[in-house]
Amino acid sequence: STKFSKLEREAPDPIVHTMNQYFADPDARKVDVSIGVYKSEQGGSYLFPSVAKAKEILRNNDPGHNYTNMSGIPEFINGARSAIFGDDRAKQGHLASLQTISGTGALHIAFVFLREAGYTNYYLGLPSWSNYIPMIEHVGGKVQTYTHYDEVTRKVDFNSVIENLESAPSDSVFLFQTCCHNPTGADFTKDQWIQIADIVKRRQILVLFDTAYQGFASGDKDVDVSPIRHFYDLNLEFVVTQSFAKNLGLYGERVGALHVVVQDKDYVPNAQSTLTALFRQECSFAPAFGARVASIIFQSPELLQVWKNDVAEITERLLDIRKQIHDRLSKLNTPGNWDHVLNQQGLFWYSGLTPAQNERLISHHHVYSTSIGRVNIAGVNNSNVDYFCQALDEVVR
Ligand code: PMP
Repeated sequence: STKFSKLEREAPDPIVHTMNQYFADPDARKVDVSIGVYKSEQGGSYLFPSVAKAKEILRNNDPGHNYTNMSGIPEFINGARSAIFGDDRAKQGHLASLQTISGTGALHIAFVFLREAGYTNYYLGLPSWSNYIPMIEHVGGKVQTYTHYDEVTRKVDFNSVIENLESAPSDSVFLFQTCCHNPTGADFTKDQWIQIADIVKRRQILVLFDTAYQGFASGDKDVDVSPIRHFYDLNLEFVVTQSFAKNLGLYGERVGALHVVVQDKDYVPNAQSTLTALFRQECSFAPAFGARVASIIFQSPELLQVWKNDVAEITERLLDIRKQIHDRLSKLNTPGNWDHVLNQQGLFWYSGLTPAQNERLISHHHVYSTSIGRVNIAGVNNSNVDYFCQALDEVVR
């Protein structure tokens, strides 16, 4: 046998598997609340009005297909920085940044960059996005896990977070999601972030802020990244990974960025050249189209305002669906407490349904959630909310 024939067969990603089951299901009542993609009230994919306008502008000013800049399109980098840090901080010269292959690409380069800088020990609160651990291990890092989410209170298990921050070796990396935690929707409060920052500063822990849903918690992109700005204002060194897949709806265009905050400005060029070299070794150049669309928005005060409204409207719809679900379940007297559908933030609701109940949602009701009970709130809408809640009611009784 050959070397290739000795390769192990990898299991398919469970969410992709669920998605495929959904597409194959001929039942007209079927509901997809699996993969983390925002959907419109009509159930289809959603084109942001700001993006539609920017695409039109780009079409009329076609820049062609040449390579872009190696660390990214400068206008894109500036806009991505401003979105995270605000205009003032973005201009202070403490940032090394890279345009990346969306959030996943930003994370990958972050893990490699951190390895170069001597960081290989990671702490991750569970449950979390399933790709982190394999991605970290893929580049030789080690992951220590702890509890992020308390299944009983259905909120952040803050004691566990604090205990781990206090006991971790000082060169550890804590990977936190900035907002709209995937899969639990359970975020730190403002006060908790302040406590985290104090410990991080005292104990010289490094934080990586993964930011994939900026804006979808509060409806305001600036508010959602306030923990990052707080860290910056404390003169901490840290890393931010940023995806525009969700908050610009540019999923397949792979638009993202990586930012490294360097305390001593003299060393920003070192970090910047390291990032650029690492990217060169893996990708050479980031894809242009989506970043150009984003840049057009970033450079136009008018389109920035449209984008702000887009994000606010999406968040409002998500909140409205959460209320509707809570309302329906109350009316149905569905056994259990469902307040967490209101308390959790962003695209995801961590329903607490068991794997068997989730399986029954699929087999008896054509409702495709995930095996871990993560529900994409945006898959529910005015037309299917009754059906969805009745199905949920039936499987928990
Ligand atoms: N981080 C989190 C928490 C995510 O949920 C996702 C996408 N599901 C990503 C990063 C990466 O997304 P993308 O590569 O599509 O930007």
